[in-house]
Amino acid sequence: MLDGTVSGCLNHPGVEAAFRCKQCMKPVCRSCVVSAPRGNFCSAACKEKFEAFADRAAALDNRIKGSGFAKLRQLAVKLILLVAFLAGSVWMFTTIEIPYVSDWAWKLRDLLGI
Ligand SMILES: [Zn+2]
Ligand SMILES: [Zn+2]
Repeated sequence: MLDGTVSGCLNHPGVEAAFRCKQCMKPVCRSCVVSAPRGNFCSAACKEKFEAFADRAAALDNRIKGSGFAKLRQLAVKLILLVAFLAGSVWMFTTIEIPYVSDWAWKLRDLLGI
């Protein structure tokens, strides 16, 4: 009986099982199987249990991915703004001669290579 191979259906011991429940691994025949887009189950209860778990896992996965991507995008936007601001002010202070500030701007322009 407990040899690990698919044998009789959970509800019909004489009928050969065609599926295994994705949640509890019990064998079921074609007339007992509860089919769902995510797999085959022995009962609606097992299907719901599995789907609840899969939904939670997917939600958690999305939250991690979403936050990571949002942070990265925020950082990229800040970096672009900073570079634009720096280049803009350097360009402005090297175009318009302002004592001391222009000296500093030329130094920064040499440093940045722009
Ligand atoms: Zn089951
Ligand atoms: Zn059956």
